Amino acid sequence: MSAKPVIGLLGGGQLGRMLCEAANILDFSVAILDEEKCPAKQVHQNDLHITGSFKDPEKIKQLAARCDVLTVEIEHVETTILEEIATKGVEVPSPDGNGTVLKKVPVHPSWKTIRLIQDKYQQKEYFAKQGIPVAEQVAIAEGSERLSSLRAAGDKFGYPFMLKGAKGSYDGRGNYKIDGPSDLETASSQMGDQPLYAEKWVPFEMELAVMVMRTEDSEGNFKAVHPYPVIETIHEDSICTKVLYPPRKVSDEIKKQAQKIASDVIASLWGRGVFAVEMFLTKDGRILVNEVAPRPHNSGHYTIEAVPQMSQFKAQIYSILDLVPRKGISLSPRVSSAIMLNILGGAKEDSHDRFVKLAEGSSDAFTDVYVHLYGKASKPGRKIGHITATGFSSVDQLASTVSPLIKCMDEIRL
Ligand code: ATP
Ligand code: MG
Ligand code: MG
Repeated sequence: MSAKPVIGLLGGGQLGRMLCEAANILDFSVAILDEEKCPAKQVHQNDLHITGSFKDPEKIKQLAARCDVLTVEIEHVETTILEEIATKGVEVPSPDGNGTVLKKVPVHPSWKTIRLIQDKYQQKEYFAKQGIPVAEQVAIAEGSERLSSLRAAGDKFGYPFMLKGAKGSYDGRGNYKIDGPSDLETASSQMGDQPLYAEKWVPFEMELAVMVMRTEDSEGNFKAVHPYPVIETIHEDSICTKVLYPPRKVSDEIKKQAQKIASDVIASLWGRGVFAVEMFLTKDGRILVNEVAPRPHNSGHYTIEAVPQMSQFKAQIYSILDLVPRKGISLSPRVSSAIMLNILGGAKEDSHDRFVKLAEGSSDAFTDVYVHLYGKASKPGRKIGHITATGFSSVDQLASTVSPLIKCMDEIRL
C-alpha cells in the first residue's frame, strides 16, 4: 500500500464520485461509507470501502479506523461520533499486537462546523452575530403554540414569507412559501413535526454563490481562505438548475463584495475544506447570505472544466490534506464563460437520453460541452448528471449557444 494518506468519505453520491475522479488522477485512496453500488464506489475500487449508512455510528468508527482523515459529501451526518473520533479517538489494534489503542482521526471540515451548518436557523444566527448580512429570521414554537407563533411571524415579516425546516432539507424540500394567513394551517400540517423557522421574504434580483477553500495548519490554526470567482445560480422550484460564470450584469464592485462576504463567512467557521456560500443580491445592491454548504456543491461543478488546475474536488483534497503550496494557488478560470445545466430525471427513465445526445453534439469551434452522468437511476426531478459548456465569448453569447439545450432540459423536467 502506498504511504499516501487515506481519505475517509461519508457518503458516496455524485459529489463523492467527482471527488474520487479527482483522487484517481492524484493516486489517492478514498474509503467510502455508503451503499455497495453508490455512484462514488462505481468509479473508485479498493478494499477499504464500508457498506452501510453514513448515519450509523458503528460504521463511521469502522471507517475512521482505516483512514487518516475523514471528510463528508453531505452535511446530514452523525456529528456526535465525529466529535468523539476527532477528540478522543477510535479503537484500533495496538502496534505491538497487545489489545487496542485509541487513534484520533482529524475530521475536515470540523464536526463543529458540520453541526452548526446542519441547523440552518442556528447557522444564520451565528453568521448574524459575526456581522454577516443575512435575512431576518425567527424560530417557530413547537407543539400547541406553533400556529400562534406562525401568525406572529406573518405579522412581523408580512406576506409572503418563507417557512423553513431547520434540519435535513435540500433542494428546497423543507421550504414552504407562505402567501397569506390562510396558508398557515396547511403549511404547518404539511411540514410535519420538525423544528421550523420563518424567514423574511427576499425579493432578490439574482442569486449568487462563491466556493471558498479554507486551510488550517496541523495545530488547527486558521491559515487562509481562497475564494473562487462569483457565479450566478438559477433555481426553479427551489432546485438549482443552472449556474453561470460570470454572473450577468453584475458590477465588479458587487463581485468583489460577494467574494469578501463569502471569505468572511468561511473564515468564521472551523476546519479545512471547500465550502459553498449561497447569497441573494437585492435590487438595491445588498448581498445577504442564504446558507453555507460545508463541502463541494452543485454551484461549483463548473470548476472541473473552467478551473481545471484546481477544481472544487481537487480543492477538497488539497485543503483537507494541507497540500496547498505556500506561495498560494490560482483559482482563476481558464475560460471566459461557463454554464452548468443540471440533468434532472424526466417522466420516463430514459427521458433525458435525448438531452445527452443533443449535448454531445453541441461542441463547436468556440464552445466545449462536457457531459457528466452520475451512475444513478433516473427519477422525476432527480439530479442524475450535469453538463458544463465553456467558451471564450461572453456569458450572454454562451447562453444563446446553449439555448437549445436549456429548452430541451425544460421540456424533459416538465
Ligand atoms: P439546497 O439544496 O441549496 O441546500 P435548501 O433546501 O437548503 O436548498 P434554501 O437554500 O434555503 O433551500 O432555499 C432554496 C431556494 O429557495 C433558494 O435558493 C431561493 O431560490 C429560494 N429562497 C430561499 N429562501 C428565500 C427567501 N427568504 N426569500 C426568497 N426566496 C428564498
Ligand atoms: Mg441547504
Ligand atoms: Mg440552498
